[in-house]
Amino acid sequence: MRAYYDDSYTTTFTARILERLEIDSRPAVVLDRTYFYPTGGGQPNDLGTISGCEVIDVQSRQVDNAVCHVLAQTPDTDDAECHIDWQRRFDHMQHHTGQHVLSQAFVLVAAANTVGFHLSSDSVTIDLDRTDLNEGEIDHVEDEANRIVFEDRGVRTRVIEPDQADGVRMRRVPEARATGGLRVVEILDFDQTACGGTHVARTGEIGIIKIVKVEKRGDKLRIEFRCGRRALRDYHERTRVTNLLAGDLTCPLGEMPEAVARLRRELKDSQRRLKAAQSELLSAERLSLLMNAEVVDQVRWVVAVFADRDVGTLRALASALVQEQGVAALLGSAGERSALVLARSADLAFDMAQAFRAAADGGLSLRGGGQDALAQGGGGGCTREEMARALAAARSALSP
Ligand SMILES: [Zn+2]
Repeated sequence: MRAYYDDSYTTTFTARILERLEIDSRPAVVLDRTYFYPTGGGQPNDLGTISGCEVIDVQSRQVDNAVCHVLAQTPDTDDAECHIDWQRRFDHMQHHTGQHVLSQAFVLVAAANTVGFHLSSDSVTIDLDRTDLNEGEIDHVEDEANRIVFEDRGVRTRVIEPDQADGVRMRRVPEARATGGLRVVEILDFDQTACGGTHVARTGEIGIIKIVKVEKRGDKLRIEFRCGRRALRDYHERTRVTNLLAGDLTCPLGEMPEAVARLRRELKDSQRRLKAAQSELLSAERLSLLMNAEVVDQVRWVVAVFADRDVGTLRALASALVQEQGVAALLGSAGERSALVLARSADLAFDMAQAFRAAADGGLSLRGGGQDALAQGGGGGCTREEMARALAAARSALSP
């Protein structure tokens, strides 16, 4: 007997174990009556304890519709002391009744029908059969749904003959064998829906219905929402985050989007200026290095150690240097990370990959390599002296 149909609020009760069985190698029991809700109709099962044994799942058995309580251990007596986790149950009640209110508000305000309902500890969603709703319509639906919450309307359930179901919304037809007819959940003067779930007694208990996300999925519109304590926790988190951001941006909440847009524009502008400045710096540096290069047999040797530059920056400088003929550029960087780039002009015949190996053999832990004209790599930290020795080794390998 499913006692939760008539009473969603009882959480402690006694019952007799009628049957003991195993489900997926776990012990399970069937009781003579139960308030435990088995997974179904979009609503997850209850949790709790039976004679101190943890309830880990509650299922409806296909063949005879019996409610099977899957347990972590086997109870030692057939007289069961049962306890339902109220916080979880009440969360499901708030969201399930909240779903009925929201679905009916979508029908009345926007002629959108609910074709799917999903409730879990992660998210609660309904799917609508209309995707062309605009923001204003959705806000209007949310206002209307919350008006029904604030009016604290009664919610009652009754069982009717299936042929008397005129005016009853049939999103999902509940198992008639368990109820002996069609179970209808009615929100007074607002909605009647065929449903086998657990519901609050008055809409005020839903607390609030807040839509948090609207997402088009094929020919359906998925509406994610939160009710009651979950909505409060969500509001709490959003308040914390927006207050932090508003403090950082030194502006009121409503001006945050514009403040962020302004920051993005400024960032883009700064990046553009930085790039221009880097390019100017690069050409100045290139000229200075070429002027100070040591010339041996018509090869200009640019050998330089920098501090805290990455491989990319060194490569840009090396590429600029070897644009001219007869240049060998051996550039290294010392610091917390080492970087090394070896490049030559197209008219020279040096093998820079071989020179890279010679540099790496000098004691630096360098990873990398390359081809005849360009080799590059990096590794752990090193001093300027260590990098200078590595570059000297590379140069000796090129012109013994
Ligand atoms: Zn329902």
